[in-house]
Amino acid sequence: MIIPVDIDVNQLAILGKKYLWQKPSACPRCGGHLWWHGFVLAYPACLAEAVFFRRLLCPHCRSVHRLRPKSYWRRFQSSVATIEQVIAHRQNNGRWSPDLPRPRQRQWWRRLQKKSLLCLGLSFVGSLFDSFLTLIEAGAIPVNSVMECDDG
Ligand SMILES: [Zn+2]
Repeated sequence: MIIPVDIDVNQLAILGKKYLWQKPSACPRCGGHLWWHGFVLAYPACLAEAVFFRRLLCPHCRSVHRLRPKSYWRRFQSSVATIEQVIAHRQNNGRWSPDLPRPRQRQWWRRLQKKSLLCLGLSFVGSLFDSFLTLIEAGAIPVNSVMECDDG
């Protein structure tokens, strides 16, 4: 099975096999304790080069698992899922998430406002979180700078 983990892929690319992976607490299949089980070379979409991902073996049910980073946008330290949580949190509560530095969250929010206006226009009736999802569906990165080309 593949176990998604929240890691910094850019650090992983720099450190290679020296990257300190956090071991998942239990086997997702049987709940047993996991052993490290070597590496596997992978080509994540967000990086130009191949990187080593760790594998795990469950000695109880004999299954082999692979760690995989949650999806990331290029040059972003936080995963897409984390950014989505921040935007949803701001939309629903009107405040920033306590888990991440505020300037970063504010920057994402402002960029999303600009990008939404530029790409979706004033006629878009949904919330800012709706435009976040709409922009992703359209293949855009909703929180990068407006001048930046998405497919560059
Ligand atoms: Zn197991």
